[in-house]
Amino acid sequence: MNEPPLTDSPQARRYNRISRRLGLADLGIGLGLMLMLLLTDWTRVIRDFSYRLAGGENFVLALLIYVFVLAVIGKLLGFGLDYYSFRLEHEYQLSNQRWRGWMWDQFKAFWVGFGMSVLLAELLYFVIRKAPQAWWIVAWIAFMVLYVIFAQIAPVILFPIFYKYQTLNNDELRERLTRLSEKAGTQVRGVYEWMLSEKSKKANAALMGLGATRRIVLSDTLLASYSDDEIEAVLAHELGHHYHRHIVKSFAVQAMITFIGFWALKIVLRWSVINHNWFISQYDFANLPLVILLTTMLSVVLMPVLNAYSRWNEREADRYAWNSIPSVEPFISAMNKLAEQNLAEREPSRWVEILFHSHPPIAKRIADAREWQSRHPQPGSAS
Ligand SMILES: [Zn+2]
Repeated sequence: MNEPPLTDSPQARRYNRISRRLGLADLGIGLGLMLMLLLTDWTRVIRDFSYRLAGGENFVLALLIYVFVLAVIGKLLGFGLDYYSFRLEHEYQLSNQRWRGWMWDQFKAFWVGFGMSVLLAELLYFVIRKAPQAWWIVAWIAFMVLYVIFAQIAPVILFPIFYKYQTLNNDELRERLTRLSEKAGTQVRGVYEWMLSEKSKKANAALMGLGATRRIVLSDTLLASYSDDEIEAVLAHELGHHYHRHIVKSFAVQAMITFIGFWALKIVLRWSVINHNWFISQYDFANLPLVILLTTMLSVVLMPVLNAYSRWNEREADRYAWNSIPSVEPFISAMNKLAEQNLAEREPSRWVEILFHSHPPIAKRIADAREWQSRHPQPGSAS
């Protein structure tokens, strides 16, 4: 097997640098918009407009209109960047999606995002109104319940809005997965083929869902060009996430962070009403930009910590995979293929890894696999 180059091509570096800058610009636009709404008092103008449109008294309807206006402004401001991302994928031959299909996805994403935002906002302000003291604890519990529901319905309701997928139609692979699962004493309910090729040339695999909806999905772009041994290595990695209960553990981490978030939110909202006379009450939804600003900033600050946690889980899933397949070679060749196909940076700089990467860099994953193999010589391995 010929070894691919160890360093990244200028093309891969450039693509990833631009992608990161797009992400940061998008974040900047979001934060800037919230800041502007607060500083210019336009948030109160939009709130009053929403009440007028809702007939004066209807809190629920007025809030819905307010969230809609914010969502539209956000979409309009961010559309240029979204379009640029779409063009970028084409420029680097990573996508063959047509403009019309992309617009349709944008349209659907807007409504799904709006629907979820309205649900969360209505729930939050309902709880603040009903429990002015303990709202942040009640809201935290309610949000966690919703989180579980979303995780459960995501593969069967949300995912199919954007992608087609079907039960994997490959007996050989299904049999290999069954064998892997039995070895682990665990069971994943299904493996699905994810029709990604109509939107992207990249390959991907994931473990998703909760309980009855738990499943592994493999993109058709992966199934089309990887050997059965390589796909088995990818399956084993996903099964590693399942075996080590990474979804449940991530939920616990998420619950902790959300708790801190609501606690900080309580302090800021009270301050904005009592000491600052900024808003009429805690449930004056003109303070929503403040809520978004605070929660976004908190998640940005925590991003490196969450990424480090995620990389830890990925390494655990990798080790699980090496242990359960006859040789690490297919794992290594799958990693190389993925890097090439997705134009991933094999060796990002250390700070890029710390700030942005949820997975260890591919060069490290490969080096770790080789190191692991040197300590666990496998009978089936060629090297
Ligand atoms: Zn993984």
